Amino acid sequence: MSWELSTEHLDFRATCKSFVDREVRPLVAEAEANKAFPVDLMKRFGAAGLLGLTTPEELGGSGNDSLAVAILSEELARASGGIAVTALVSAYMAGPHIARHGTAAQQERWVGALCDGEAIAAIAVTEPQAGSDVAGMTSTAKRTENGWVLNGRKMFITNAGLAGVIIVGARTSTDRHTGVTLFLVEKGTPGLAFGNPLSKMGWHSSDTREVLLDDVHVGADDVLGTEGRGFQQIMEGFQLERIALAGMGLGHAAESLDLAKAYTRDREAFGAPLNHLQTIRHKLAIMEIELDSARLMTHQSALRLDANHPEAFKTVAQAKYLAAIAANRIVDDAVQLFGGAGFVEETPVAMHYRDARILRIGGGTDEIQLEILTKGMAT
Ligand SMILES: Cc1cc2nc3c(=O)[nH]c(=O)nc-3n(C[C@H](O)[C@H](O)[C@H](O)COP(=O)(O)OP(=O)(O)OC[C@H]3O[C@@H](n4cnc5c(N)ncnc54)[C@H](O)[C@@H]3O)c2cc1C
Repeated sequence: MSWELSTEHLDFRATCKSFVDREVRPLVAEAEANKAFPVDLMKRFGAAGLLGLTTPEELGGSGNDSLAVAILSEELARASGGIAVTALVSAYMAGPHIARHGTAAQQERWVGALCDGEAIAAIAVTEPQAGSDVAGMTSTAKRTENGWVLNGRKMFITNAGLAGVIIVGARTSTDRHTGVTLFLVEKGTPGLAFGNPLSKMGWHSSDTREVLLDDVHVGADDVLGTEGRGFQQIMEGFQLERIALAGMGLGHAAESLDLAKAYTRDREAFGAPLNHLQTIRHKLAIMEIELDSARLMTHQSALRLDANHPEAFKTVAQAKYLAAIAANRIVDDAVQLFGGAGFVEETPVAMHYRDARILRIGGGTDEIQLEILTKGMAT
């Protein structure tokens, strides 16, 4: 047993870091101000091999592991939550559904393009009346002579305005858990429409919209996976998604901690740098303890997921919960240590503070992770 990253993972982290410093950081201020993802960046992610980490080599990926996704997520979120989530949703939250469950034709059409960053994917599960309660979705897919017709509304869909393909969950029968099926819906399909980008508290450069399905006809071969197994496929997909989101929490926390260490070293008050005060140094130490413990659990959850460990599901839920909460505490402490400067919108710690908040909600709220962990306790 080793608690250290392998040489390969350390090298991969260095690769991610230099990519982020070179390609991502210079774009962040403009992306935040314009509230728009710099779309050309997606191909550069692809060229650097950062979008196909968990995709098998024969499908155009690198057959790497979930720990690499956690490391990438951390390094990306250090620079920007909005940019990070755009890439991560396409590559590790939506895309893997096609790599895992797609037919040869679906894989041929999309998987290589997603790995290369030539196409962007989205996944549309949440509805205005059904978020945590995934099985409560009411969008419908009715069989036609040569396929299906989809109707309904999806809410808060990341990448909706950028995506070439959207994975849509819809009800093919009334049973809560065996009545959901996933479909591939291509951009431009008649009846597929979008709301305006939502103006959000954080993730400013990420595109989030309502998706409207009004008599959207798709073919019989646009079913993704097995009819009636959509709920199970979504739950499977949540595992890597939660590791990526936990990784993002680590990134916001790690960057904020570094910024707070530098600031308290340079800022003087009462005739000395802030970090000469024991109370300030202790706060920094506590922030680091919280970050390191969240990172350990996130990495353990990634290793357990790939090893099919019997407790992988539980560890992923614990990691998502812990990393999201730790990140929120750490970014809040960082803002506090910056004083008034931390409250100014363009300050990096203010961005991390805004971006970290969604991590306690998206991909399954804190409360849903606790539900997963306590299922069966009352019996
Ligand atoms: C910026 C952003 C991006 C998103 N991207 C996507 C996306 O790409 N695709 C997608 O499908 N969805 C996406 N979502 C939706 C997200 O997954 C949901 O918002 C989330 O799952 C919560 O659902 P809800 O908002 O309907 O809240 P609700 O489910 O209505 O929950 C409201 C509150 O009730 C609590 N609650 C609900 N059920 C229980 C329970 N059983 N026990 C205890 N407490 C409970 C919740 O924890 C929460 O605190 C995104 C959301 C946001 C804000």
